[in-house]
Amino acid sequence: MSSEKISSEQLASIVENFPIIAKKVMSDAALFYSLAENNSDGLLVICKENKIIRYANPAAKKIFHGTSDALIGQQFGHIIPKEGEVSEINVAHANGRKTKAEMRIKLMEWQGERAYLLTLRSMEAQRRTKDITDKNAERLSALVNASPLAIMALDMGGRVTQWSKAATRTFGWNEFEVLGQEFPSITGNGKETLNTLIERVLDGASLSGRELTGQRRKNGDALDLQLWTTALHNSQGLNSGIMIFAADITEHKHNEARYVGSVNRDLLTLLPNRVQFRERLQQSIDKIEPGEQPPFAVLHFGLDRFKNINHSLGHTKGDQLLREAAHRLAGSLYDTDFLARTGGDEFSILLRDVRHVSDSSRIAQKLLDAMSQMIVLGGNKLFATASIGIAVYPQDGADADTLLHSADIAMQRAKERGGGSSQFHTDDLDLHAKQHLDMESNLHQAYERGEFELYYQPQINPGNGSIVGVESLLRWFHPEKGMIPPDQFIPVAERSGMIVPIGEWVLRTACLQAKAWIEAGLPPVRVAVNISARQFDHPQFVPNVAKVLHDSGLDPKLLELELTESMLVKNTEDIIAIMINLKRMGVKLSLDDFGTGYSALSYLARLPIDTLKIDQSFVRGIGQTPTNGSICTAIIALADSLGLRTISEGVETMEQLEFMIAHGCDEIQGYFFSRPLPADECTRLFSAGGFSNLLPEPKPACSNELKKKLGVLLAGQAGVIAPAPQYEYEM
Ligand code: C2E
Ligand code: CA
Ligand code: CA
Repeated sequence: MSSEKISSEQLASIVENFPIIAKKVMSDAALFYSLAENNSDGLLVICKENKIIRYANPAAKKIFHGTSDALIGQQFGHIIPKEGEVSEINVAHANGRKTKAEMRIKLMEWQGERAYLLTLRSMEAQRRTKDITDKNAERLSALVNASPLAIMALDMGGRVTQWSKAATRTFGWNEFEVLGQEFPSITGNGKETLNTLIERVLDGASLSGRELTGQRRKNGDALDLQLWTTALHNSQGLNSGIMIFAADITEHKHNEARYVGSVNRDLLTLLPNRVQFRERLQQSIDKIEPGEQPPFAVLHFGLDRFKNINHSLGHTKGDQLLREAAHRLAGSLYDTDFLARTGGDEFSILLRDVRHVSDSSRIAQKLLDAMSQMIVLGGNKLFATASIGIAVYPQDGADADTLLHSADIAMQRAKERGGGSSQFHTDDLDLHAKQHLDMESNLHQAYERGEFELYYQPQINPGNGSIVGVESLLRWFHPEKGMIPPDQFIPVAERSGMIVPIGEWVLRTACLQAKAWIEAGLPPVRVAVNISARQFDHPQFVPNVAKVLHDSGLDPKLLELELTESMLVKNTEDIIAIMINLKRMGVKLSLDDFGTGYSALSYLARLPIDTLKIDQSFVRGIGQTPTNGSICTAIIALADSLGLRTISEGVETMEQLEFMIAHGCDEIQGYFFSRPLPADECTRLFSAGGFSNLLPEPKPACSNELKKKLGVLLAGQAGVIAPAPQYEYEM
C-alpha cells in the first residue's frame, strides 16, 4: 500500500485539509500516511464505485468507537455529500451511544481506483472543545475581574478591547466609556504619562514592574502606578495588541515617602534631605578618576527673611511657601542636577557638567528669577527673594563637608549684601564668572552694532620683499573699553557659540576685501582666515565657504584657512573628509601655531595641508636659546620633506628674519615688516609695492645644502614621516 502513488493535485488537496505542514522530505504515500495517521479528524478512504472502506485512520476508528477492526472492508452506509458540501451523520458506537459527526469529501485516486477521501469531525469533540474554551473564557474573565491589578487589553490601534473592574477603580472610567475607544487621556505632572508609555509599548517596547508616578485619575486625584505589559498575538503569530497590568501604588508611595522620608527624605517637600545630599555629593567626588577634573558646583539656596514671613503669615503658609520654593527649584533644574532640602528654609543643589564657572552663576540666576515671580498663598500674594552661595570643586573644598560649608558661607555673604543675588565662595571666581557673562552678552551686542573690524597683516616673500598674502585678524572696538584683543573675546565667543556667526562674518569680509583689492587693480594676494574648532565642526561649514566664495567671486586659491592641530585630532576620518572637500574647492589650508600641538607626525603627514605656520614662540627664541632655532630649522626641513610651504609668524627682528631666510623659510609675517593694519592702510602698503627696502643684504648661500641634510636626517630619525600625500583636487 505504501508504494501507491497519489497525484500531486490530490496531495495538494489532502494537505490543504490537514493542518500539518510537512511536505518536503517524504514520498507522497509516506506523507499521506504520516499526515493521516496523526490527524485529529477521522479520515476514511472509500471506493467510489462500491463504497467499500479501504482505509481508516486512528481518529476515524475512535469516532466509530470499538468497531475499528470491522471498518476496513465494510461498506460505508451513509449518504456521501457532494464535494465542497458539509453534511451531518449519526454515528453509532459499539456501546450503543450515538453521536453526530460532520462530514466532507474530496475525490482522489486510491490504488488505481477512484475513491472518496472522507473527513469526519466528531461534533461531540467539537462541543467538548467549545465547552472547555467557554469555561476557560469564563474563568479568565472571573480572574481578570477579581484581580486587584487593573487589567486592560488594547488592539494595535490603541483601542481598548478589555477593561477589568480594577481598571475602573484605578482610573475612574467604566467599561462602557472606554471599550472600543482609544485609551483615555491621563494627565500627569511630568513629561511621561501612561499614554506616552502605551505608545511605546504599541511600538514594541515592554514594561516589567516600571513605576510611573505623578499621574491623575479621571477625577483629577493623584495616581502612582506600577506597570507590566505583554504583547498579544493572533493565530498567525502576528502582533494583535497589548495587555497592560497596572497596580495602583499611590497609597504605597505615600507611605514609603512617609517612612523612608524620616531617614532620607524631607517630609514637607518630599525632597531628599541633608543626609542624602551629603552622601550623593561625596559619591560624586569619590567617582572622580585621578587626574580628571570635572568641574561641578554646589549651590546653597536660602530664602531671604523667611522667619519674618513664617511669623507674620503663620506656619501653614510658611510650609506652603517652602513647598512652592521646592517646586520652582525642581522645575528650573536638569534631571542630572540633584536637589535636596538641607535646612529649615535652605536647599542645596549639586550641579554636574558645569564646564565653566559662569555656568553655575547662570543657573543660580535662573533659580533666583524663578523664585522672584509672585507667589499666591491662599489669599496672600507675596514676592520672595533668595540668596545663593556657590562652591566649586575642588577650589572650595575637596570633600563633601568642606564644599557644603563653603557654599553656606558664600550664601551668608550674599544675604549680608542684601539678598536676591548669588555669590561665589572664592572672590576670583565671582569676578571671573561675571566678566565672562558680561563679555558674552556684550559680544551679542557688538555683533549686532557692528563693533568688529578686520585687520590684515602682510605675509612677505623674503626673496624679493613682495606681499604674497595677508592674515585677517579680528578687532573689537568697544564703545567704552576701546579695543579688546582677540585673545580675550575669541575664547568666550567659542564657548557661547557666537564664533559661528562672527566667524562667518570674518570669512565673508576677508573674501570681499581680497576681491576688492583685485578690482582696484592691485596684484592678487592670498587672504588667510583663522577658523575655530566650533566653526569647523559645524555641518554648514563647507557649504558656507562655497557660498562665500561664490558670492564674493574670489578665486578659491586666494583663500587660505588657518586651522590648528587641536581641532584636527578627533574623528580623524571625518576631518580629513572635510579637508578634502575644501581642497576640492581649491581652497588652501594651513596649520597654525605649528609645533605646539602633540599630533603624531604620521597623522600630520596624512592631512591634506599646504602650509605649516611656525609658531611665534619658537621664532621669538631665535638667538636667545639654541633649541628654538633648531626647532624652526627642523620644522622647515619637515615641511620640505612633506612638500609643504612654511610661514614664520612673529618675526620682529632682523636677526630672526636673517635666520629664517638662511634656513629657507618660504614666507615671513611679523611686526618687523608690519603690524596688522586696517584695510585702507594695507591698500597703501600694496600700492607702495612691498618691503624690498627692509630685506637684509644678500649673503653667500649655504642654506640649501643644510636644508637637504636636515631633511634626510629628520626623515630618517622619525621613521614615521610618509612622503607627501597626493590628492587629486578639482580646481
Ligand atoms: P594667531 O592666529 O596666532 O595670530 C597671530 C597673532 O600674532 C595675532 O594676534 C597677531 O597680531 C600677532 N602677531 C603678528 N606678528 C607679531 C609679531 O611680530 N609679534 C607679536 N608679538 N605678535 C605678532 P592677534 O591679532 O591678537 O590675534 C590673536 C589670536 O586671536 C590669533 O592668533 C587667533 O588665534 C585669534 N584670532 C584673531 N582673529 C581671529 C578670527 O577672525 N577668527 C578666529 N577664530 N580667531 C582669531
Ligand atoms: Ca593665525
Ligand atoms: Ca599663530
